[in-house]
Amino acid sequence: MIANYHTHTIRCRHASGSEREYIETAISRGVKLLGFSDHSPQLFPAGYYSNYRMFPEETGNYFETIRSLADEYRSDITILAGLEAEYFPELFDSLIEFLTPYSPDYLILGQHYIDNEYDTRRYSGNPNSDESALKRYVDQTLEALGTGKFSCFAHPDLINYTKSSSVWEREMRRLCEGAKRLGVPLEINLLGLSEDRHYPRADFWRIAKETGNEVILGCDAHQPERVAVPGELEKAKAFVDALGLEPLETLELIPPCK
Ligand SMILES: [Zn+2]
Ligand SMILES: [Zn+2]
Repeated sequence: MIANYHTHTIRCRHASGSEREYIETAISRGVKLLGFSDHSPQLFPAGYYSNYRMFPEETGNYFETIRSLADEYRSDITILAGLEAEYFPELFDSLIEFLTPYSPDYLILGQHYIDNEYDTRRYSGNPNSDESALKRYVDQTLEALGTGKFSCFAHPDLINYTKSSSVWEREMRRLCEGAKRLGVPLEINLLGLSEDRHYPRADFWRIAKETGNEVILGCDAHQPERVAVPGELEKAKAFVDALGLEPLETLELIPPCK
């Protein structure tokens, strides 16, 4: 693995280890580019606090820590400071404005909540048989990609619709075609693969193959030892080979705040 763009830090409150440990692991496994993409802060309405992401006031420390390590390690590895962000339509413009002083290197889209997190709190990965939620997930993520702010779409198959397979397939085809039209690569999530979660699901990636989407592997590392794990990469290779997919080695990054 040459590059991994999906790496968390302790600030999201469900990851562990220091940034330095993630970097040292990446170097020891031959990774040449490590992008941090912790769960983005969000400017929620007063009274709601997410325990799933850094607080806005931690953002400065996040970028300073990563950029100082990037400088320290620059002869060994390229280190980038990005974020995994949700697309909550009513908060997105203010998020971009808030992030502008930090000029993140990139954003990846991780849509963990349908609609939003602070109000309806519908986790995308919960099994559901509601066709309108499935459609909403696709509409919302395509609107996100349409902003031109995202360099990649993490675990696009997180949505866990369990009812009609023809409805699911129609909507996933719409998602893949939209991502292709907008030129945004889709991430095969190695965390899900290694833990046998409901994603990545082969039938989704078969559609992506038929649609001709660009794909990339992402570790989604929440512990330092989960960066470029040899066994996970072997499993990923078997997964993509079986589908005839050829993942990109690197992403073309879009700075979201220009
Ligand atoms: Zn996470
Ligand atoms: Zn993640």
